[in-house]
Amino acid sequence: MDKERMEFIRDEVLKRFLNYVKQDTTAVEESAKTPSSPGQVILADQLARELKELGLMNPECDENGYVYATLPASENVQSPPVTFCAHMDTSPSESGNDVKPVLHKDYQGGPISFPDNPELMLTPSESPPLSVYKGDTVITASGKTLLGADDKAGIAEIMAALAYFMRYKDALHPELRIVFTPDEEIGRGTDKITLEKLGRYGYTLDGSMAGEIEDECFDAWKAEFEFMGRNVHPGFAKGKMLNAAEIAARFISQIPEQETPAHTEKREGFYHLSGLRGDENRACFSLIMRDFDVEQNQQRLEYLEALNAAFEKRYPGLKIRMKTTHQYQNMRRILDQYPQVTALAEQAVKNIGLTPLKAAIRGGTDGARLCYKGVPTPNLFAGGHLFHSKKEWVALTAMTQAVLVVIELSRLWAQSELSE
Ligand SMILES: [Zn+2]
Repeated sequence: MDKERMEFIRDEVLKRFLNYVKQDTTAVEESAKTPSSPGQVILADQLARELKELGLMNPECDENGYVYATLPASENVQSPPVTFCAHMDTSPSESGNDVKPVLHKDYQGGPISFPDNPELMLTPSESPPLSVYKGDTVITASGKTLLGADDKAGIAEIMAALAYFMRYKDALHPELRIVFTPDEEIGRGTDKITLEKLGRYGYTLDGSMAGEIEDECFDAWKAEFEFMGRNVHPGFAKGKMLNAAEIAARFISQIPEQETPAHTEKREGFYHLSGLRGDENRACFSLIMRDFDVEQNQQRLEYLEALNAAFEKRYPGLKIRMKTTHQYQNMRRILDQYPQVTALAEQAVKNIGLTPLKAAIRGGTDGARLCYKGVPTPNLFAGGHLFHSKKEWVALTAMTQAVLVVIELSRLWAQSELSE
């Protein structure tokens, strides 16, 4: 690609990113509305407007704050429509109000300080990928908020790629169906999505390190427990009292400590306890189970069933209710059936001069849910690091590379043998 085009991409992605992060789009877990916060509606309206200005077809922000638009295929391109997806909200774990992006131009390595928070320091030892970007422009927030590269980098990258396609008509692409979703960070990103508006295949741009392609995520279960005991005056309780809270505590102590989040990493799965509360009559808690391997989670569920039976037997009169929910599934099972979706992404990453880094997400993505709704959707890097924190950062080159991947991947799809 020539210098003029590269500069166009850098300018487009930077300008848009700096603009989008200024809008507070923090997701609000407690809200029952979609989107969960009014700032997301403002950004959604703005994006729909910008898509219209770019000249895309049918740009819209629907009543749930989902933004859609279509870029018709290049002439004579027959391949199926492809979706690029990113989310507009930011994590409630850190403030996203009044984000002031700071550009550290010609970054020299070493620690980065924050103008609005003298105590805060970002060092290469805690985020080693920083060392990759010596001489580059590194972008952080000012120290009081997160940056919002998760996932406004993804949005800016998709928008910059669209701007590129509108300007350089020789760049081939299939029909592109764009979607920007609300409330991904609180697990609702695809709840109200209109599947008919998406392509046959898709990609989320919501990953981290440049080159990363994630085609695997957790298989995720939740088990909600209710223990019903029997309260009696403690002075006269022998052989009578069934203290629900105490018995629940004994039950929880049977969960193997080595299989909890604080003791697991990489491909290891876990049980995670949350929301424990109770008294003599009634105690409640939840366990979430996570693993890349479906069978491992099945074994965890069987173990819990066995514990239930054992405890009800040991404490006659005790009632245990367990309600299980399959929250989301490992997208690998679906993506394995459509190997070209990930393979083309790997090829695109190679073609722009990066090494593809296949990774498994210790969590879920919008794409994992889309896979099980019929749109195979792996996750591509958007370039940001230290998500959900005041030290969140992104390098301009990584964002530019993500735009190049979208452009190259579109070209590969346009030339693929598959037709609709
Ligand atoms: Zn994200």
